[in-house]
Amino acid sequence: MRKYDVVVIGAGPGGMTAALYAARANLNVAMLDRGIYGGQMNNTDDIENYPGFTTIKGPELGEKMYQGTVKAGVNFVYGDVQNVTVDDQQMKHIQTDSDELVASAVIIATGSNNRKLGVPGEENFSGKGVSYCAVCDGSFFKGKNVTVVGGGDSAISEGLYLANVTDGVNVIHRRDQLRAQKVLQNRAFDNDKIDFTWNTSVTEILGDENHVTGVKIHNNQVGDDTTLDTDGVFVYVGNFPNSQIFNNLNITDQAGWIITNDQMETTIPGIYAIGDVRQKQLRQITTAVGDGGIAGQNAFEYFEAIKHRQTVKD
Ligand code: NAP
Repeated sequence: MRKYDVVVIGAGPGGMTAALYAARANLNVAMLDRGIYGGQMNNTDDIENYPGFTTIKGPELGEKMYQGTVKAGVNFVYGDVQNVTVDDQQMKHIQTDSDELVASAVIIATGSNNRKLGVPGEENFSGKGVSYCAVCDGSFFKGKNVTVVGGGDSAISEGLYLANVTDGVNVIHRRDQLRAQKVLQNRAFDNDKIDFTWNTSVTEILGDENHVTGVKIHNNQVGDDTTLDTDGVFVYVGNFPNSQIFNNLNITDQAGWIITNDQMETTIPGIYAIGDVRQKQLRQITTAVGDGGIAGQNAFEYFEAIKHRQTVKD
């Protein structure tokens, strides 16, 4: 059992910022992740809305943030968290697949994951033409045509990335208006290699033994069903929170997003939530970083208050 002042669960931009602030306040901090640090930034090509950089590659920004945590003395710990419990002394026990960590405060920064389309063929062809990560898989589609499903920031920014790598991109969206930021929309509308299929849902992903060959689509206005040829399908239809492991704590809304106040406090003293896993309006690197700074500082103040109470008791 390893003891820390603060354990941060998740090493994306929010988690790394929280760990940085807590460590710079001289707390003994563990930052836990089941994979490499960086979170969803690792699947992002160009980031153009993080102040200080006109454009920076996602993994490069992740590396820079990580180096900051190392310099501040944060301990990076690998582990897949199974659950978190709180004992009578208000200490938090973080059970991983291989270890138990104990801390006064926990900052949850577990982010969110890609939602699936949930249509026939999606699972079968996952890794054989169905992908959720253009940066990871785009280069397999050089000289080919791909389909992007969705109309949000992810669909359009990854569609733009794919337009650079492939022969052509068809964005299939269920409405006739995109949800993505205007600057991304305009860039996509101006790109000759990107076409749009509006008011349309993908109802099945088709293929032969090894590859995707097309999609079955349904026009939501006319009501007809047709088939489109494609070599790959990139699915960007939103996210769901990585919060199932905290179900026992009762800190989420019905959809699983963790509820906090503007101090990042959940209803459990000493447990904070930040970044994409939190119930919030705008899920961005910048807002995750802002949440992280607030939580790191509040974890410090929580730790000091406990120390003070303990001193008075003694
Ligand atoms: P999102 O904003 O929730 O958009 C999901 C898109 O998928 C929407 O267009 C939605 O359509 C569509 N959709 C949902 N369910 C569908 C279904 N079953 N079938 C077909 N289409 C479906 O998700 P996101 O684009 O992944 O972005 C997630 C968060 O990350 C957002 O807060 C976003 O701003 C942020 N983000 C930011 C950047 C950036 O700043 N560069 C990049 C990536 C992500 P409707 O529009 O009809 O609802």
